[in-house]
Amino acid sequence: MARIISVANQKGGVGKTTTTVNLGACLAFLGSKVLLIDIDAQGNATSGIGIRKSDVSKDVYDVLVNEYPIADVIHHTTRENLDIVPATIQLAGAEIELTPMMARESRLKSAIKDVEPLYDYILIDCPPSLGHLTINAFTASDSILIPVQCEYYALEGLSQLLNTVRLVQKHFNPELRIEGVLLTMYDARTNLGSEVVEDVRKYFRERVYDTIIPRNVRLSEAPSHGLSIIDYDPRSRGAEVYQALAKEVLANE
Ligand code: ADP
Ligand code: MG
Repeated sequence: MARIISVANQKGGVGKTTTTVNLGACLAFLGSKVLLIDIDAQGNATSGIGIRKSDVSKDVYDVLVNEYPIADVIHHTTRENLDIVPATIQLAGAEIELTPMMARESRLKSAIKDVEPLYDYILIDCPPSLGHLTINAFTASDSILIPVQCEYYALEGLSQLLNTVRLVQKHFNPELRIEGVLLTMYDARTNLGSEVVEDVRKYFRERVYDTIIPRNVRLSEAPSHGLSIIDYDPRSRGAEVYQALAKEVLANE
């Protein structure tokens, strides 16, 4: 059965999508069968891994709202062993449309059941909010990977995130746990970076990954080529660190 991991932080721009795509690609490179699920209406994971909007007729919205079979929405990517359930802008309506629906918190969980045996890892790229879509992801997941950007207000908002985790544990998914906290966009040239690393380690202790993701321009270029970092520039620092992260995640079984 697949290990299902939500990549979540309600702050935007902290590296959720970059981490979902590149961790997924590195796990696939190391031999795991990986499915990415994009549940952000921006569709950045979808375009970032090379799926064109014109090739997407049904997406995760149809799965969540119209109960369309998830297996029929899966796209293969150019990276072997890496598939994706895409998102398009129509997902923007889902937060409101899910509100009055039956079993609105567990729709993604039910949908995933059909394809879970086909994968080793399912990574869910969450939107920058703690609404119905994120609750669906948490209800469907074994664990949550939290990217934290190395900036001044890094810890701000995390208590709200952890509170949502506790609510989901209480009501929908008692087994849900924190997979790990990932420090992202570290800049060795500033003192601030190392202060943030210290603060986050003090707060989350051994749950923080040893691997720290530095700022690396190749990581920000790769999505515009529709490639993960290991296909865009396998020798880059970005490729190196996301492979190190993948090995930590594998060792965490
Ligand atoms: P989120 O999904 O949390 O909103 P993204 O992964 O989209 O965040 O990252 C926000 C922006 O920062 C994107 O333009 C992305 O390419 C860039 N980015 C993410 N991680 C890095 C990094 N380690 N180095 C340089 N740029 C990065
Ligand atoms: Mg994103």
